[in-house]
Amino acid sequence: MENKSYNAFKTAQQQFDNIAGHINLDSGTRELLRVPMREYHVNIPIRMDDGTVKVFSGFRVQHNDALGPGKGGIRFHPLETIDTVRALSMWMTWKCSVVDIPLGGSKGGVVCDPHHLSLHEQERICRGWVRQLARDIGPVRDVPAPDVMTNGQHMLWMLDEYETITGAKYPGMITGKPVGMGGSLGRTEATGFGVVFTLREALKELNLLPENTTASVQGFGNVAQYAIQLYTQLGGNVICVSCWDQAEGKSYSFKKKTGINLDELRGISDRFGGIDREKAEAIGYEILSGESWLEQDVDILIPAALENQITKENVGTIKPSVKIIAEAANGPTSVEADEVIKSRGIFLIPDFLANAGGVTCSYFEQVQNNMNYYWEKDEVIGKLDLKMTSAFMKVSELARKNDLYMRDSAYIISITRVAEACKQRGWV
Ligand code: NAD
Repeated sequence: MENKSYNAFKTAQQQFDNIAGHINLDSGTRELLRVPMREYHVNIPIRMDDGTVKVFSGFRVQHNDALGPGKGGIRFHPLETIDTVRALSMWMTWKCSVVDIPLGGSKGGVVCDPHHLSLHEQERICRGWVRQLARDIGPVRDVPAPDVMTNGQHMLWMLDEYETITGAKYPGMITGKPVGMGGSLGRTEATGFGVVFTLREALKELNLLPENTTASVQGFGNVAQYAIQLYTQLGGNVICVSCWDQAEGKSYSFKKKTGINLDELRGISDRFGGIDREKAEAIGYEILSGESWLEQDVDILIPAALENQITKENVGTIKPSVKIIAEAANGPTSVEADEVIKSRGIFLIPDFLANAGGVTCSYFEQVQNNMNYYWEKDEVIGKLDLKMTSAFMKVSELARKNDLYMRDSAYIISITRVAEACKQRGWV
């Protein structure tokens, strides 16, 4: 979400402008791609449980659909802003493009706080959002998915409303559905595993064996836990993780020099990825400040919590031992910090490549919905590995060939593909 000094949309535009200049993109395409093609602002009247009516604001932003129907999550958050949604929709365009799936970029949100809403009220918001937008979303237009504070249940309510309005079954209208109700096996693991598929390739490129490396991770939620699981299976050793303490309103890091034990930490964490400090200390973890995860003497850093976490203020604390940063979170690095990382020659796997496993698996979900035939988990994960590895290879090959920073290389590939699609369609 937005804080006072950080505007995600400005960052997204700045990143785009830099690359557009670098590849000499013509002015028409530049003008088109630096803003969303369509934005919907809706106000949803909801009958609350106490009988009163409240009106909730919502958005859907469709940045670009030249490569296929828009794809992107819908967030429920009290501080949701149109600029955050715009930025995320633009990043979705680049993400789908870099992994070469036939989808565009969208994002949505409703300004609300599910902590203070009953399940019935949340259901009415989901259905109300769909009633407002049913003409503008759908399996061949724009396909939502879960994001911050929304889950499979919310997606099912939205699907049900859509099918009630249209009078037919369209399971591919939305992804992130529960398994057994049109969801795909492997979706839970997909983003974290995808991060490690790209990390594994980066290690090969740097001639490093996973078993000789250590890592430190920010966050202990869905993405972080599955990234830790696969990296550990490959032989790597995570020595530090961090998480947010809801009660204290601050973050802490948890360190074990010999390596953390994922199952042990899972056993003492809540469903929001918060680890119990007392219990952790009792089983031998050192409790450090929230920023300590960044200051570890490790080979690999994996920010897997939030946007804008590595900034010009703390980038200097990254140890010389760090060779790879795998951006599991969306936008974890500020533009200024990115310059420092680039100049230090650290191998960066940019967010929209590293964490594209989630949307790739959502695409697989749609494919399975269209066939009405569902794959085994191993098949899903195998296909995910192929997609992620192939995307990584293309980005790293271009980077090597032209001596480019990995983020710039990924942007060049993504933007060029989307620009080409716009051109071929005769838009620009
Ligand atoms: P999550 O809610 O499951 O976990 C978030 C974790 O971050 C929790 O452990 C929380 O305690 C921790 N955290 C929050 N604020 C923190 C802070 N200031 N310092 C340290 N830790 C903090 O979320 P997730 O699904 O794992 O997503 C993590 C990131 O990955 C987000 O940026 C999200 O947008 C991105 N992402 C997620 C997916 C997905 O499929 N889940 C896909 C692509 C990108």
